[in-house]
Amino acid sequence: MIPYGKQQIDQADIDAVIEVLKSDYVTQGPAVDLFENAIATKVNATYAVAASNATACLHLACMALGVSEGDIVWTSPISFVASSNCALYCGASVDFVDINPDDGLMCITALEEKLIQANATNKLPKVIIPVHLAGQSCNMREIAKLARQYDIKIIEDASHAIGARYLEEPVGNCQYSDICVFSFHPVKIITTGEGGVLTTNNGKLANSARQLRSHGITREVGELTQYDGPWYYEQQALGFNYRLTDIQAALGQSQVQKLATFISQRNTLAARYTQMLSALPVKHLTQHEHGLSSYHLYVITLDNASIHRQCFDLLRQAKIGVNLHYIPIHLQPYYKALGFNAGDFPNAEDYYKRAISLPLYPDLSKDAQNHVVQSLTSILQELK
Ligand SMILES: *Cc1c(COP(=O)(O)O)cnc(C)c1O
Repeated sequence: MIPYGKQQIDQADIDAVIEVLKSDYVTQGPAVDLFENAIATKVNATYAVAASNATACLHLACMALGVSEGDIVWTSPISFVASSNCALYCGASVDFVDINPDDGLMCITALEEKLIQANATNKLPKVIIPVHLAGQSCNMREIAKLARQYDIKIIEDASHAIGARYLEEPVGNCQYSDICVFSFHPVKIITTGEGGVLTTNNGKLANSARQLRSHGITREVGELTQYDGPWYYEQQALGFNYRLTDIQAALGQSQVQKLATFISQRNTLAARYTQMLSALPVKHLTQHEHGLSSYHLYVITLDNASIHRQCFDLLRQAKIGVNLHYIPIHLQPYYKALGFNAGDFPNAEDYYKRAISLPLYPDLSKDAQNHVVQSLTSILQELK
């Protein structure tokens, strides 16, 4: 089976991990600091805070921004459930902004209209979480302009998008957001096994996330409300154990050196797909001039939705590990029980009936890619 995505680990990565295993620290220690610095430098952000995974980072981000009961958070229905679960963890309620069918990203017009309505009914969100689907940045300048009008905070779910660029700048520099979150799950662009980092230019938010990542405890003398002795630490908030280990950070540190290569390999393969698929009755997600995608995913949408299921099955039978990103979050049973229904976000639901993620990872061979395209071509021919 050709998988839809996978990590690429080389000897340098393995050596980096072994080095940490032989050192004094195994859990969070100096390698995490180095990794955080490497990410902050890479994406041009002032602060980076690493945690056990991107879901934890999204939760920390919501908490740092004060999301709590009675608050509302908006995100995209075409994302992984973590994009909205993070708000539910804080006791907030969630709503969605429908996507633009061409690029799969949060629709700016839908957002604008929903904000006007929400303002009129006193139901404005505290935070909006745009999702950089497949590695392409949302139109952050427009989203930030709208959010600012209503004093709404922004968390970018850039789980797919480390190494991507928006308006000539790296995604993660938080020019148009309060916090940006990256995932290092093995299918993502670079990996730490499990892991995530949030970036921000706001020192208070960084401190808060850092404290909440480790039980809400601080040992910084300047932050203590009292001092009992050199053993003393203080729990000042209800935090979690969301720490990354030095073992994982060492892997990440080694992986991040290869980020530019991975992005360029992914873009080359994506361009090859786009060219080879141009005559088929499928579309690929529109790529905007405003950026460079990290191409976590290569998503096609079928012109004919009625053959979607068969096409998917036949590709899997041909040992091509296609996948579907994503089942609209509001159609999950857990979310339906919260009151969401089929029909709530028609563009997302239509996209779900057409989308297929083709295999894409840095060392996908041209032969394997040709096999994917040939199989897809003959399957579409057969189902016509
Ligand atoms: C992978 C992913 C997450 C969660 O990342 P983890 O590191 O696995 O917790 C969140 N949002 C999106 C869009 C993702 O793809």
